Amino acid sequence: MGSAGLDPQLYTKLFLNGQYVASKSKETYSLRNPKDNTVVLDNIPIAGHEDVEAAVKYAEDAFHGPWSRFTAMQRTECFLKLAALLEEELTPILTLDSLTSGIPVSLAPVRERNYIRNCLLYYAGWTDKQKGDYFPADDGFVKIVRHEPLGVCAAINPFNAPVPCVFLKAAPALATGNVMIVKPSEKTPLGSLAVAALFEKAGFPPGVFQVITGPGSTGALLAEHMKIRKVSFTGSITTGKKIQVAAARSNLKRVTLELGGKSPAVIFEDANLENALTWTINGILTRSGQLCVAASRVYVQKSIADRFIEEYKTRMKAAVNDLGDPQDPNVKLGPMIDQAQLERVKEIVERGKHEAELVVGGNQYGDKGCYMEPTLFLNPKDDAEIYRNEIFGPVSIIKTFETEEEVLKLANDTEFGLMSGVFTRDITRALRMSSALETGVVGINCVSLQSLQAPFGGKKQSGIGREFGEYALRLFTEPKTVIINMAA
Ligand code: NAD
Repeated sequence: MGSAGLDPQLYTKLFLNGQYVASKSKETYSLRNPKDNTVVLDNIPIAGHEDVEAAVKYAEDAFHGPWSRFTAMQRTECFLKLAALLEEELTPILTLDSLTSGIPVSLAPVRERNYIRNCLLYYAGWTDKQKGDYFPADDGFVKIVRHEPLGVCAAINPFNAPVPCVFLKAAPALATGNVMIVKPSEKTPLGSLAVAALFEKAGFPPGVFQVITGPGSTGALLAEHMKIRKVSFTGSITTGKKIQVAAARSNLKRVTLELGGKSPAVIFEDANLENALTWTINGILTRSGQLCVAASRVYVQKSIADRFIEEYKTRMKAAVNDLGDPQDPNVKLGPMIDQAQLERVKEIVERGKHEAELVVGGNQYGDKGCYMEPTLFLNPKDDAEIYRNEIFGPVSIIKTFETEEEVLKLANDTEFGLMSGVFTRDITRALRMSSALETGVVGINCVSLQSLQAPFGGKKQSGIGREFGEYALRLFTEPKTVIINMAA
């Protein structure tokens, strides 16, 4: 049950006002390791009304108190210290987190570390660059515009990237002077709880960064709270809509929604096939397909379809050998998050067998834990569930096309609009496609990735607002205009 260093039992409390405290609510739930369904903990608190009230009060006190007096450079120092602390502490924390997330620890030393570290370093440099604006008195009034923090913000996070999500939300929020309460997914709270103490050690005053645990009911308390000024949410479209409604019904808090995807990857006949295969296979198998930007719809031009599909099939079949114990540092692919998600994916795949041609996988892998075989379908019916809906598993669908016009129609015929990829050596076509594809991010000769410096988020029902880069800072501040009467 133990992990390299950190005992899960230490993280069965909430992190409020700079310390781990028992929840006022006595309700708890249990967590299992998806590699074998053994119980990791049976006493994770379900934070209730009183706990949320306490968190909001501490957050407000910090926002109006010590945190408001921090200079930009002091905030930067906290960010840098936190990044330095994580050098030692992150791998044990991600290893602990892996016990319930099933995310392979092999991703920790490079991929996860770089993402989190770079996120902190990037936003550390933004604390003193909220420069605002100035308009001269040509109408008799000087106008000064300030970008002010919103106040108490909440992050409601999904299960599939628990620790990175903490930083990509907290860093722009804190860089701009806000305070944040994080509610991790009920399936993956351990890493978020463990990093909380490092914020304290790095010098952020108590109450600036807090973590409460619990399921949707706890998230709903945040979404409907009258004193919380913003919710930054990542998760499913269904929950995103509930949060938008709760925000509207309560205090019109600002809402950023990073929601699901069904990302198309379009492979033209002139593409570098090896490159296209590498990106599309990685794009559906990373985190066993539990990735919002997973390349789950692959369109390949007919003239190269046989060759591409044959190789894609071979690699998907071979990938079954990469499945294994996520706590083993040599293993690349882990299980689904839990039994419920495995069952859900199996049912969708079962129905898919009547809607498309199953050519690879299609079953649970092994008889222990929540592993799903890498799975590939060809030529789905137009209204097939596997083709239309986000599966959130290692399941991809390949469809062939003949012309650019045809594939554009296919790729855009969806309510999702998070990410797409175009594979071609023709730069004119690539740019034309990048304009026409209705997604928030388009990769050219790549897919299923994000950049810290550039905005990330969805069109259509894949989201509202953007994260990353300067754009995230804008959504954690609000302009205030000061008008000065020059005639007085
Ligand atoms: P989910 O919507 O089930 O849960 C997300 C969070 O919302 C959890 O913390 C949950 O407790 C909370 N929640 C549930 N009901 C709530 C309510 N009524 N009010 C407030 N909070 C509530 O999502 P999930 O299954 O954890 O994550 C998978 C989904 O997240 C997929 O659709 C995936 O595409 C999406 N996702 C999107 C991005 C992105 O950046 N666009 C990134 C990762 C995951």
